[in-house]
Amino acid sequence: MPAPRPQPRFPEPDTAPFWEATKRHELTYQTCTSCRAVVFYPRSHCTTCGSSDLTRRISQGLGTVYTFTVIMQSRHPAFAELGPYAVAYVDLDEGFRIMTNIVGVQEPVKNVQCGLRVKLCWHDQGEGQLALPMFEPA
Ligand SMILES: [Zn+2]
Repeated sequence: MPAPRPQPRFPEPDTAPFWEATKRHELTYQTCTSCRAVVFYPRSHCTTCGSSDLTRRISQGLGTVYTFTVIMQSRHPAFAELGPYAVAYVDLDEGFRIMTNIVGVQEPVKNVQCGLRVKLCWHDQGEGQLALPMFEPA
């Protein structure tokens, strides 16, 4: 059994609701009520106009690989057994970008491409624990 992945450290007021939602397998993002900007990662204010009037929404979990790299080996105990794995930026259809892993592919170097359509999948981190949003080919 590999070591657990690094986890967020709480208290973390801006991102705690995001992580709480992952336990329900909900990928949340925010929109600004004042200027309608999409805000991600989770914050207490709009990055466009500074308003604190933000609405939390649930993503449908469909997106496109913006860019990626493949880590061939990692000595961190949580990643050492993975073999090559893809770290990517995914552009969600709702208009935000998330750093994540692309999973469910045989060979990340060959099977992941910029522009690849992907869908959300969840990697639970233990009973009652948060889950990590990852993506696989759609
Ligand atoms: Zn705004």
